[in-house]
Amino acid sequence: QYILGIETSCDETAVAIIKNGREIVANVVASQIESHKRFGGVVPEIASRHHVEQITIVIEEAINQANLTFNELDAIAVTEGPGLVGALLIGVNAAKALAFAHNLPLVPVHHIAGHIYANRLVSELKFPLLALVVSGGHTELVYMKEHGHFEVIGETRDDAAGEAYDKVARTLNLPYPGGPHIDRLAQEGSPTIDLPRAWLEEGSYDFSFSGLKSAVINTVHNAEQRGETIAPQDLAASFQESVIEVLVTKAKRAVAEYGVGQILLAGGVAANKGLRNALEKAFVGQEGIELVIPPLSLCTDNAAMIAAAGSVMFEKGIRAELSLNANPGLDIEIFN
Ligand code: ATP
Ligand code: MG
Ligand code: FE
Repeated sequence: QYILGIETSCDETAVAIIKNGREIVANVVASQIESHKRFGGVVPEIASRHHVEQITIVIEEAINQANLTFNELDAIAVTEGPGLVGALLIGVNAAKALAFAHNLPLVPVHHIAGHIYANRLVSELKFPLLALVVSGGHTELVYMKEHGHFEVIGETRDDAAGEAYDKVARTLNLPYPGGPHIDRLAQEGSPTIDLPRAWLEEGSYDFSFSGLKSAVINTVHNAEQRGETIAPQDLAASFQESVIEVLVTKAKRAVAEYGVGQILLAGGVAANKGLRNALEKAFVGQEGIELVIPPLSLCTDNAAMIAAAGSVMFEKGIRAELSLNANPGLDIEIFN
């Protein structure tokens, strides 16, 4: 079974082909980061224009890399949402054109389901499991009792973890996207600055990062007003410690309460070294629980993860009509 996946929800134009749900035979990512850097974030209009320019080239490159023809494919999977509507539309329209031209089934995929399924390219999934999703737009704990079934047991009430990383980086005058820069700085500093942790109500699996973000910004401004400087590496280390402590503590509690045998890490912030180390410390060697963490290239946006999730959705019989539209606010639980 060969599934071609297309991902254009944000600033990566990506196409991949997956064999039998787990084996990458082509994986092409055209990143636009350089074009958005000078604006300090993703500019939707620019993103759409890049996707239009790149999509045909990237599809062709994936087909060549896999050494396949279109009639050897079994389905076209595409990110339906969530994401930037203009960006999503380019991928959705390309997928519809391919499905129509080559008479192939069209499979709609939720972008976060894709991030979660990046893990299946590393290890076979064992249910029930929990996924800790930490990306630019999402921070969630997702419980899965079986393939293609997603139950959000906790999520952020304000900023996503990646968003907080990017805003803190901006305060420290680091380039976009700031996550990797904070991660690197944090490893050079020590967590000497006292910052808040948002635990929320007892028993809650929800998250909140806007208070932490504001505390970092206030710390910087107060120091500036007093004519002092704060070592950016110590501030980065303190911020990162707060984020990781909350994520790991809640993940541990959820693993115990839900009695899962596997915990997956997903989303762009899964590339964070501090978080990866903390999760390894928390779960590796613990009896009855397996930790799966994808390689860095499968953590940030890519289409291999979309094809991997698409393969499962395809087997479940999920299909989209050729009237499929992009859905920037798509809910992950509607696929259950
Ligand atoms: P979503 O998946 O929620 O729609 P997105 O696709 O924009 O959002 P991703 O591509 O999954 O987000 O992740 C991008 C985010 O990951 C950015 O906020 C970036 O700063 C962050 N990030 C990448 N590498 C690291 C790292 N090493 N440490 C912390 N954050 C990181
Ligand atoms: Mg991106
Ligand atoms: Fe993403």
